[in-house]
Amino acid sequence: MTDRSFRTALVAGGAGFVGSHLCERLVADGLRVVCMDSLLTSTLDNLGELLREPRFSFIEHDIIQPLPAGLRADLVFNMACAASPPLYQLDPIHTMMTSVVGTNNLLVFAAETGARLLQASTSEVYGNPTLHPQPEHYFGNVNPIGPRACYDEGKRAAETLCFDYLRHGLADVRVSRIFNTYGPRLRACDGRVISNMVSQALADEPITIYGDGRQTRSFCYVDDLVEGLLRLASYEEALEHPVNVGNPQEISIAEVAELVQRLVGTDAPIIFCPLPVDDPCRRRPDITVATKLLAWQPKVDLPDGLMRTISWFRKNRERTAPPIVRGPSFSGANQPIKIER
Ligand code: UDP
Repeated sequence: MTDRSFRTALVAGGAGFVGSHLCERLVADGLRVVCMDSLLTSTLDNLGELLREPRFSFIEHDIIQPLPAGLRADLVFNMACAASPPLYQLDPIHTMMTSVVGTNNLLVFAAETGARLLQASTSEVYGNPTLHPQPEHYFGNVNPIGPRACYDEGKRAAETLCFDYLRHGLADVRVSRIFNTYGPRLRACDGRVISNMVSQALADEPITIYGDGRQTRSFCYVDDLVEGLLRLASYEEALEHPVNVGNPQEISIAEVAELVQRLVGTDAPIIFCPLPVDDPCRRRPDITVATKLLAWQPKVDLPDGLMRTISWFRKNRERTAPPIVRGPSFSGANQPIKIER
């Protein structure tokens, strides 16, 4: 997959939604894969057949803790962090520490072993953007003390660490900024918009729009994302800037609800719930850099990707818990905080 031929990838967060697709692709490309995951918001179900694959191994470990001794890898992917707003807000301190302490633990490993590290950063570093679409040089507009800050600021701090390790010649790092991603293995109980709406539509239950539905997102199918991440991980020159990896096709949340209704073929009503605090109004990646440097652009459009996602949800419904929905009484700030350390 690259000029420098990598043999073993360590995938932190490899049992999660994106991480499990990445593990599958890496094994298919001939690498050995060590998947490390805390299983706090992910599941071994995502690994399926991989668990029987000789070139694949699984370690249950939270990257906040020092990494186990004796690990070997020449390529590290840091995909470890809860990514769904209701889930990452459940234990915000743990979320932030996953990005800061966890990323530092992986960077130390990369520095000590010479492994290359690909950091999964996020469009959330742009916060509620005042520049549209968002290019990598935009500094963002993040509320540092709001309920989303544990994720946004954690990921921003992780980027800072990555570029300091890179500039000081300590580690070979690539940083991707991932925009909204969807596809098979999103968990119905994850609380994000695609998983909520698809599982609601399949159950003929009301489809929940937060706010008036005019806010926009740009959704990237998971296979396209994985291809972009692999191209960035394989890019030979050190890049002192992040690279947006997302699908620039922008759509309002109300349009997503109608599309899901139509593709599932349901008369389930649409209901409106309060907009969460600091919910970004618009989000769309400028992917000029990825297109030029990596010759990458997404191939799967939203109706096609949604059909693939819907058919996976149809087959796997019994496996997943009901969606987390922010009902009229929901307030992110008042959610119980579960702290396990
Ligand atoms: N959203 C919605 N209904 C839902 C879940 C989410 O309208 O059942 C909205 C949410 O308020 C946001 C957008 O959909 O405006 C995307 O939310 P998600 O949690 O998927 O990701 P985000 O981009 O906010 O991190």
